[in-house]
Amino acid sequence: MKNKSILILCMLLIFSLTIVAGCGTQEKAAAPQQPQEQKRDVVASQGVVAAAHPLAAKAGLEVLQKGGNAIDAAIATSFALGVVEPNASGLGGGGFATVYIAKEKKSYVVDYRETAPLAAKLSSYKLDEKGKPVDDAMGLVTGYQSVAVPGQLRGMEMLHQKFGSMKWNELMEPAIKQSEAGLTVSQNFSGILADELGRISKDSPSYPWLKQIFYKDGLPANPGDVIKNTELTESLKKIAQGGADVFYKGEIADLIVKEYAEKGKGWITKEDLQNYKAIMREPVQGNYRGYTVMTVPPPSSGGVALLEILNIIEGYDIAKMGAGSADAMHVITEAQKLAFADRAKYMADPEFSKIPLIGLMDKKYAEERRKLIDLKQANTQIKAGEPGKYESGSTTSFSVVDKEGNMVTITQTINHFMGSAVAPAGTGIILNDEMDDFTIDAKSVNAPEPGKRPLSSMAPTVVLKDGVPFATLGTPGATRIITTISNLIVDLIDFKMDLQPAILYPRFHNNNVAATSIESRIPQDVVKALEARGHKFDVKKDMDLFFGGAQGVMLAPDGKLHGGADPRRDGLAVGY
Ligand code: GLU
Repeated sequence: MKNKSILILCMLLIFSLTIVAGCGTQEKAAAPQQPQEQKRDVVASQGVVAAAHPLAAKAGLEVLQKGGNAIDAAIATSFALGVVEPNASGLGGGGFATVYIAKEKKSYVVDYRETAPLAAKLSSYKLDEKGKPVDDAMGLVTGYQSVAVPGQLRGMEMLHQKFGSMKWNELMEPAIKQSEAGLTVSQNFSGILADELGRISKDSPSYPWLKQIFYKDGLPANPGDVIKNTELTESLKKIAQGGADVFYKGEIADLIVKEYAEKGKGWITKEDLQNYKAIMREPVQGNYRGYTVMTVPPPSSGGVALLEILNIIEGYDIAKMGAGSADAMHVITEAQKLAFADRAKYMADPEFSKIPLIGLMDKKYAEERRKLIDLKQANTQIKAGEPGKYESGSTTSFSVVDKEGNMVTITQTINHFMGSAVAPAGTGIILNDEMDDFTIDAKSVNAPEPGKRPLSSMAPTVVLKDGVPFATLGTPGATRIITTISNLIVDLIDFKMDLQPAILYPRFHNNNVAATSIESRIPQDVVKALEARGHKFDVKKDMDLFFGGAQGVMLAPDGKLHGGADPRRDGLAVGY
């Protein structure tokens, strides 16, 4: 009963915040229905961790309360996520971290994206006469050849060496304890296991092992079941003692290389693992209505496309159009399509191609792109622009802010849920299927080449206002990452929403395809108004996992840290 009244109070609060967010606007869109569910956000003063699983958020909080900084907490959360959300990220994957160091007033990006092994070339794929892959989509996402060299541990090592204050093994302790205790299966995870069963049972060389751990009697583990991956616990213990080298040069490297030599045609070799390096990169930076947006550069397209979308949107009075209005959705969707057309043509690993980065993020270029937006009609013929003229020169995301104002936002992944479904014998580690993020097309700048990083969409982002931290934002969701982060920034800045209502707000996404993906909560009158302008829709569930799971922290006007977490995953924000 008590819980019920708290729930009702929360719903009223969220509802009224959403209404407030829309106040002062001309066109009042019908308020979308917000989900009825448990409280996931937090208001705190010292530190906040927001992650896609409650135990991972708590692992980070434990470290903050022991005196660790935001980076220490992020490392602990990252390891814990690999244990309690093994479908989305882990030791076999990679990612990007955006870090803001308060006393330096400076941001850094650690790129620990997976990298194509030396054996990976376009000729490794069977192509038809048009240069398109012959294998069905499954062949490219499941099994040995879908795996790129993991970057996860080199990334954590770099974060720890540059910014950490606690001991490496202490940061791994919560994950090891959670792995020993076993993972209690959530409704969400059980559903994901069911969704992936078809491809895994058909194409995964590690199916016998996956079946033993995750699929009891060939059926997905049920909510409430406890899963123990003892081999992963052992791998974590070895890494806690011997550091990342155990994975890249030591005992775990040997197990991976053995599996590949015996069964995986040597796709990943000892040399590939030894050569892998995380890279410290300068963030890309833009300005949106006076806020500084610092985010991830290539080999992720996420940051650059995000800034291009925001630059295009900046030319319109979105606040006046109103949150959830057809006008705002029209403009934002068209901006998304314009940025995605450029993404497809220009974005790839910067080590392998020259990207017109400055042009893509230029305000004058955005002005030119804006001319292709007709306020009355959807543009169905959008192509990449000429940014060169403006040149002067199944993932998870989490955020941590500490009491010094240091901020970390990380997006890490093994790509599809359950990755390649390859787990080298004896490691307990599920490897990524990141080769799938290459474009198997000789004409693409993102075609696979040995040692190249596949193009990502990940965009963990830090936003400052007048040089002072304002928010950290991140989400999984492949190309939806770019549109979700830009929508969240518009919700926070233009519509003055609080973070949690912004996370709950119905999502929409168009990567320059015929139909815009929308959550079904978008009211019918808005959908009809947009259809009259030529938009088509692919209607998803009311709160759809397709759109990712955003986690973030906002330094709100009340001077407090507002942690927000996403019910599209098992998200929770905790703080103290
Ligand atoms: N592999 C994708 C990327 O790097 C992320 C996958 C996802 O978020 O689901 O962009």
